[in-house]
Amino acid sequence: MKRYRESIVMYDLVRLREEFPVLSRCVYLDSASTSQTPRRAVEAMCTYFYEYAANHGRGAHHLARRTTEEYEKVRAQLAGFLEASPEQIVFSKNTTESVNMVARGFRWKRGDHVITTMLEHHANLLPWMMLRDKGVRVTVVPHENGYINPVTVAEAITPRTRLVAITHMPNVLGTVQPVEEIGKMAHERGVPILVDGAQSVGHLPVDVTHIDYLAIPGHKGLLGPQGTGALYMKDPDSLECCLYGGGMVEHVSLTEVKLLPPPAKFEPGTPNIPGVIGLGPAIGLVEELGVDLIHRHEKKLGTRMCRGLSGIAGVSVYSPEGTGVVSFGVENREPNGFARALDDLDGICVRSGMHCAEPLTSSFDCRGTIRASVGCYTTAEEVDRLIAGVQALTGDRS
Ligand code: PLP
Repeated sequence: MKRYRESIVMYDLVRLREEFPVLSRCVYLDSASTSQTPRRAVEAMCTYFYEYAANHGRGAHHLARRTTEEYEKVRAQLAGFLEASPEQIVFSKNTTESVNMVARGFRWKRGDHVITTMLEHHANLLPWMMLRDKGVRVTVVPHENGYINPVTVAEAITPRTRLVAITHMPNVLGTVQPVEEIGKMAHERGVPILVDGAQSVGHLPVDVTHIDYLAIPGHKGLLGPQGTGALYMKDPDSLECCLYGGGMVEHVSLTEVKLLPPPAKFEPGTPNIPGVIGLGPAIGLVEELGVDLIHRHEKKLGTRMCRGLSGIAGVSVYSPEGTGVVSFGVENREPNGFARALDDLDGICVRSGMHCAEPLTSSFDCRGTIRASVGCYTTAEEVDRLIAGVQALTGDRS
């Protein structure tokens, strides 16, 4: 397991925020949806466009060579971040695409079985539900107060179970799931595990020892540009590719196709080259700050937010204390209207609605929630402005 830099010194928030000019224009509490992008990532993308833009992996000229080199450097960097090897990393455009690569890349047989959970974002639910058309049985295990009990998953495993697909941190509640324990247990039974790392990678230490597939967004905890993501595969030969075309073949005749080895065989066509090139320095920033410190910072702010909101009359907080993703509801107020009012009042940007997790969110007996989420760059003052805003809009005078 990777040893993350332990330190009692918090990073310098003032300096960090200079990397994100947009933060001076609003109170950004929607990082669970997508993160702000640091200057260094934007600058790397500008350098690509201004100095060496070309295609990846093809062409002998110097621009193409430099592009390929810079792109592959980021693959190696992400692999290093996860303590994996570059062949195990395939770039995608987001978490959703990464999960779908697994759902489509498995050689399914009728009667196969997949286990997923009630906590999932649609990205880790729909790809499995759609397999029902192929005769695959899908079990959705319940949660217990926002957590998946490994015993419940173990009990759902049958001799036909081909995969356990679970979120590391649900985007509605922010509860960290025991994926390591579930991974160990599943492996003891010969079942691989996919982890949806949308809310965890870059926010908390992630150990891939007991994970077979990790779906990674580039644009959330890793602070990369939108349109970037990746799939980590412990065994890249365990999946078939689901797209075919240029850049993935060693040799083609009209009777035979010989594919390149992973990861190239999973990345046909021109990828999001500028995005991936921007992702590199963004990961560098996360590494500089240290994931352990980011996690501590976000937990502290989440606790402050949870306590502050819980003390307001008419507010129900659905998330437990100590997570940077806090969902709440306000009595007699519709979530979208309330979120808009927070923005109008003080430029506070929060998410509202079902959060693409309708089975879970609708189980709270509400018309959606309001969700405030922090990032490595969020300040306690911003959290306090949210609390003050909610107080003002509810008329709470306490
Ligand atoms: N899974 C979870 C837990 C999420 O929070 C999200 C997005 O918010 C996704 C999957 C989908 O991520 P992406 O937009 O990168 O496809």
